Amino acid sequence: MKYMGVRIEVTPDHSFCPGVDRAIRITKDALMEKGEPTYSVGPLIHNPEVVSRLEMLGLKSFDPAGDYPDLDGADVIIRSHGIDTETEAKLKLRGAVLLDATCPTVKRAQEAARELAESGCEVIVLGSESHPEVRSIVGRAGAPVTVIETSADARRWAQGEGRPPRRVGIVCQTTVPRELLDSVTSIIEASAGRVEVQDTICKAVSRRMEEAVELARGVDLMIVVGGRNSSNTAHLAEICREAGVRTHHVEDSSEIQAEWLNGVESVGVTGGASTPDWQIDETVARLEEIAGD
Ligand code: SF4
Repeated sequence: MKYMGVRIEVTPDHSFCPGVDRAIRITKDALMEKGEPTYSVGPLIHNPEVVSRLEMLGLKSFDPAGDYPDLDGADVIIRSHGIDTETEAKLKLRGAVLLDATCPTVKRAQEAARELAESGCEVIVLGSESHPEVRSIVGRAGAPVTVIETSADARRWAQGEGRPPRRVGIVCQTTVPRELLDSVTSIIEASAGRVEVQDTICKAVSRRMEEAVELARGVDLMIVVGGRNSSNTAHLAEICREAGVRTHHVEDSSEIQAEWLNGVESVGVTGGASTPDWQIDETVARLEEIAGD
């Protein structure tokens, strides 16, 4: 009984964040009230299993950069990442009934970018250029903005033509780590005349990261549950590894292998912002099953 006595601990925050929870509720209500066709602008959340269950209830998604289905009179959910103004205008033109599930925290980042641009700042959005949330922040700023993803990007920006000095406003993707915001801010501050930072980091995500690192420091193995396409889940796995613990990122409990528990006395479990409770429960049940064999 080599696994006997394995301690399994789950972080307090491990399932849907408030923004994702709200988007799922809005979607389920729409499916109940109106039924098909109900669409989402891109996959509703970055969790393939949850999305496939919603598809079984009648949800369909389409790529806003590709061909649009017939949307006349159809409910169209704007997911928690939000959309840019151009896409919103296109949807309205096609007669879509928009149900706005943009997370209020993302809306705050969109508004912060617009306000900084209106006040005359050169706006920098810190985040991943290809992420839908960043595209929605950029697309609502009402002026050209620069997207920076890393400290190295910030250094390149600072050495670019026309620097310094100028007024710069920084807004960030809600899921960027605070250390990255601090590092980029100090690089920009060293080269710009005046820098205004709008802290748009999501508190729900920061708390989740802190809890994950704290747990990781006290266990032999971490299991991080969530979609592989979820950047915040991937980041959780990364910071657990950086904390020095062996870490596996799984999409669901079926991926957990018995040999991972060889010689392990304690396992920590956490999940990303789009991981449902039941995937965490299944993960714990699978670990208990292996430990009990
Ligand atoms: S992670 Fe934060 S900002 Fe993103 S949807 Fe969830 S609550 Fe909103």
